[in-house]
Amino acid sequence: MKETADAPAARAGAYDRPNASFDWEGQLEVRASAAMSCRRALWYAATGHEAQPPDEAALTVMETGRALEPVVLNAMQREGWEVTPVDANSPTGIVLQLTPTVKVTGHPDATGRMPLFGEETVIEVKTRGPAAFKRWQALGAERSHPDSVAQAALYTQGLFGEARDAVIATMDTGDRTWDTEVIPVERVDRALERTREWLAPLGAHYATHGADPEVLPERDFEAGSWRCNSCPFLAACLPGDAEEGAEAPDEEAPEVTAEDAREAVAAYVAAREALREPEGAKRQALDTLKAWMRHQPSAKTELGSHTVSLVRSTRYAVDHKRLNALLAPEARAEIVTEQTSESVRIS
Ligand code: SF4
Repeated sequence: MKETADAPAARAGAYDRPNASFDWEGQLEVRASAAMSCRRALWYAATGHEAQPPDEAALTVMETGRALEPVVLNAMQREGWEVTPVDANSPTGIVLQLTPTVKVTGHPDATGRMPLFGEETVIEVKTRGPAAFKRWQALGAERSHPDSVAQAALYTQGLFGEARDAVIATMDTGDRTWDTEVIPVERVDRALERTREWLAPLGAHYATHGADPEVLPERDFEAGSWRCNSCPFLAACLPGDAEEGAEAPDEEAPEVTAEDAREAVAAYVAAREALREPEGAKRQALDTLKAWMRHQPSAKTELGSHTVSLVRSTRYAVDHKRLNALLAPEARAEIVTEQTSESVRIS
């Protein structure tokens, strides 16, 4: 478990270290929670570049995540999971030598056994907003949050000395529902290898250039990505880009003034109010007709000059949890695809 807001300051060191640093042996030490993030950001952290402290909103998100972790573990226990939360005062740390010059350290949130069967596994607890929670359920953690799977794989190898099934437990911060995904042992093994391959170029960079703060590895993300926008090293990595990007006019979009937007909201609200009453009357009439049609011998009947039909449709649901457990992420990517659309909601 990570530190709670009122935990003693003495515990801070175990959790609030930079994401990367050089240890007393000259090894590059990377925190497991930063695996698969941005290698340039890790280099900035290790070589002592100044990090922008998180703003109030980011702190609130972090504290919410920490505060909800025991809530998720308690809920799992009530459903029959055997859970051993990590001791926050003396967390069991892992140290993994992933490449000749890079080691990974960290503390898992908990270990446990799933109901009825299973050997002890790592439980990685996450909290997500409603959209990210749904995306995780639909796509599986390897596609939606590969960094979480990397983290669980590192803890598994570090704690047990072998790959095992690992559990990602996630709570939706919107309605506080929670769910689990079991990553099977062979995919945990692959996640560990992927993480090793991902860190290897950073180790090679260190071996070639030493701990030189001015010689930087390639960027893992491009300006404008959400990763960069929330990166504590944005100012050093992309000086001016964030501000310019934010202020640059979108050439393809029509120019809209604040006054235009205010008028659009007023027009929308007026139109919605005008529609509300007839919509309510329509729904009531349809409910009456549906109840009546259910008792008719035919699904279609003539009433006055109109034909009224009772239309039945069947919806099909996919059990994403079972699908994610059965199929590797590559196979799933061919079956469950993502489309992003944009719309505006006014409330
Ligand atoms: S600004 Fe983007 S590319 Fe640069 S270090 Fe941060 S995350 Fe990496």
